[in-house]
Amino acid sequence: MNAVLVVNSGSSSIKYQVIDESSGERLAQGLVERIGEQGAGRIVHRGHRPGSGGELMTETVTERDIPDHAAGFAAIVEGFAENGTPIEGFGIVAVGHRVVHGGSEFIAPTLIDAEVAERILELAELAPLHNPGHHAAIIAARAVFPDLPHVAVFDTAFHQTIPEKAYTYAIDRELAAEHGIRRYGFHGISHSIVSRRAARHLDRPLESLKQIVLHLGNGASMCAIDGGRSVDTSMGLTPLEGLVMGTRSGNIDAGAIFHLIRRGVSVDEVDRELNKRAGFLGLTGTIDFRDVRAAAAAGDAAAQLAIEVYVHRARHYLGAYLAVLEGADTVVFTAGLGENGPDLRALICAGFEWCGLRIDPDRNDSTETGTRVISANDSRITVLVVPTDEEAEIAKQSIALVTSS
Ligand code: ADP
Repeated sequence: MNAVLVVNSGSSSIKYQVIDESSGERLAQGLVERIGEQGAGRIVHRGHRPGSGGELMTETVTERDIPDHAAGFAAIVEGFAENGTPIEGFGIVAVGHRVVHGGSEFIAPTLIDAEVAERILELAELAPLHNPGHHAAIIAARAVFPDLPHVAVFDTAFHQTIPEKAYTYAIDRELAAEHGIRRYGFHGISHSIVSRRAARHLDRPLESLKQIVLHLGNGASMCAIDGGRSVDTSMGLTPLEGLVMGTRSGNIDAGAIFHLIRRGVSVDEVDRELNKRAGFLGLTGTIDFRDVRAAAAAGDAAAQLAIEVYVHRARHYLGAYLAVLEGADTVVFTAGLGENGPDLRALICAGFEWCGLRIDPDRNDSTETGTRVISANDSRITVLVVPTDEEAEIAKQSIALVTSS
């Protein structure tokens, strides 16, 4: 067994899973939330029945103050013990940390030492909402598990194959170089696993396929993948660019930002407006697509418009990536809305018959789960729904690095 502790941390939360990389099985998982909030800390730990394919065996919920990430990791270790299987019992061989921003320098999973941890913190300049939380968790986890190798797996790394013409913004070259302004792209862990799973499902070599992946979760991005390599993606310098998301605007004329600032809205407020109060939330007052869908069905005009804006933007990118790739073999839907939104999938793909893309309505509407084809038999482009599993991918990449070094 090759068990990996996969850590996905934010500024106030730590999500974790223990995954047996050799079988892909989840052995335990949990969440520490509201770190740093007095009187609000919460720890949920779940144990899974071994060999059951993920059946929940035990769950413990504890509420107490968690002042920082170090206390968070101490609580995680206690959670395992209280749950009946101390963490030592899992034979963990590596800790895999999800890191959102790796800048231009981290192009592959990387063993974490003090210097790497420091660089991840410095990259907070480019990812102020994400990298500080990753860094705090890395420091805490290395203190709790000093004898295990810790691996950073970057969301940006998969996109380091994007050609210069696609990652370059047309601004002064020196200014861009001085401040690291270019498209980096995110969700790379998901785009990578999902495109490989699609190829495997079709029994086609990954290297032979042109794929367009739509990762439609709370955060959303699309990726053009040629032979397994990312060649374009919709997120940019930060995860703000591109598609309409739960709380992010996606594309907006940068001029709107200057306009707001000149009219007296502070920089921090504009940042919050575009990152936390825009997207579905800004257009409808609710983040979750299920609520937006229900409101639209009940005749709410704002919700109906939000869905139209969402679909219109995704179709822009679908058309753009058909151009970038000069055609496509697959279109792949993944993440919360991609996996559970047959209505969105149908709207996004409608009218693309001219390029040989045709969804089969019965397949699209089927309640089947797991990887599946939803295009018609005579569709030249195969459309798939592929569940993403970023934690399994982090475990896989961590083991690959640890066993090769
Ligand atoms: P995250 O980016 O937070 O990982 P997810 O991939 O879990 O997000 O996607 C979350 C979103 O997926 C939710 O906001 C919700 O809109 C959507 N979603 C999840 N389940 C369903 C469902 N059954 N029907 C429609 N939308 C769903």
